[in-house]
Amino acid sequence: MSAGVALARVVIAEDEAIIRLDLKEILTSAGYDVVGETGRGDEAVRLVEEHRPDLAILDIKMPGMDGLRAAREITSRHQVVVLLMTAFSQRDLIEEARDAGVAAYLIKPFQPRELLPAIADVLAKSRQQWAIDAEASTDGAEDKIATRRLVDEAKTILMDRNELPESEAFSFIQQTAMQTRVRMRAVAQQIVDGTLTP
Ligand SMILES: [Mg+2]
Repeated sequence: MSAGVALARVVIAEDEAIIRLDLKEILTSAGYDVVGETGRGDEAVRLVEEHRPDLAILDIKMPGMDGLRAAREITSRHQVVVLLMTAFSQRDLIEEARDAGVAAYLIKPFQPRELLPAIADVLAKSRQQWAIDAEASTDGAEDKIATRRLVDEAKTILMDRNELPESEAFSFIQQTAMQTRVRMRAVAQQIVDGTLTP
């Protein structure tokens, strides 16, 4: 379990009590801190407002407000990773979900063995994205995209050439940038150019 997972705070919104309980148990035993749970979409928005979690897991169909609209409300106001729970038959909603700021899907019924790595992965990737975007906050949209691409390229090099796991590859870029007081983009460029190795 990574430290990031142990520190992650979660709000769960699922109107089927058994699934909600199951999810809560799986997450809690994996080290997540479930700070709020509800069976209503509108309540989910309120709980996120109140607790400012790292992660919100929303069922797509709930009373009060559907998961997509709740996701839209949440992501427009807060930096929260939103996962949407759905069934196979609802897969046509993928496009709309992406539009609503949903980071990933969980297909029900889920298996703990698949669920936990999927959540950890999405959480890590979102955090990386935010770190990159925070650094590039004063840049234009094109620069941001260029930075993301460059960091991705550098990460791939570190993973392939130095056999680092993805999270460590990103940490290397981030830590080096902090220690040498340059931007991650510059560090990534050095890695791509071959002038910097771990
Ligand atoms: Mg439901």
